Amino acid sequence: MASGVALFGGSFNPIHHGHLIIARAVVEELGVERLVLVPSACPPHKQDHVLASAADRLAMARLAVEEESGFEVSDVELLRAGPSYTILTVEAFRREIPADQAFYWIIGGDTLPELHTWYRVRELVDLCRIVTAVRPGFDVGDLSSLRPCLSAEQVARLQADVLTTPEIDISATEVRRRVAKGLSIRYLVPEKVCIYIEQHGLYRRH
Ligand code: ATP
Repeated sequence: MASGVALFGGSFNPIHHGHLIIARAVVEELGVERLVLVPSACPPHKQDHVLASAADRLAMARLAVEEESGFEVSDVELLRAGPSYTILTVEAFRREIPADQAFYWIIGGDTLPELHTWYRVRELVDLCRIVTAVRPGFDVGDLSSLRPCLSAEQVARLQADVLTTPEIDISATEVRRRVAKGLSIRYLVPEKVCIYIEQHGLYRRH
């Protein structure tokens, strides 16, 4: 029987089909029974971005997984004060998840070479398995940027956990840009998310 938990953090501003397709692919490849999307309150790496409100991003993530078996959304980072450091979220989940269950954090290929900038990353890499979904336009072959911060063994583990997920060229930036220009975002985001963005007038200004 499948077992284990995979957490997938992001600003989800908004959630799009790139997120959902790789989440499903990772769950299938790892044989995980529970996938938790974790919208971040104040992404430490994206403080220059204009974010939809936490309530809107949470609502859209919930709509996106409403009919997805095994998928759920956590508001843990939205309820916590301060920057959304992944290590704090992982520590909180680790306390609840039985020690014999596999425990993963999912990232995209654009994020992996920047991992050394994450808060307490050495501990993070040892506390859960960080699995990377490939992303078009981002090279995950050269991880030398991580070496000053992580041990060779840690970098090798990260490299081994790069999964051959489908390459989906969708970004939230492109979704926001299209909304601001009045272009269609059908097929880029789930239909219910598309309707939510329209009804709440999100992203009309870039
Ligand atoms: P933005 O365009 O606003 O920077 P984004 O599309 O990268 O947003 P995030 O919510 O920031 O979306 O992403 C959360 C996580 O999902 C990150 O680890 C990111 O690398 C990964 N991710 C997002 N889109 C894709 C995609 N199309 N393929 C693979 N990984 C992705």
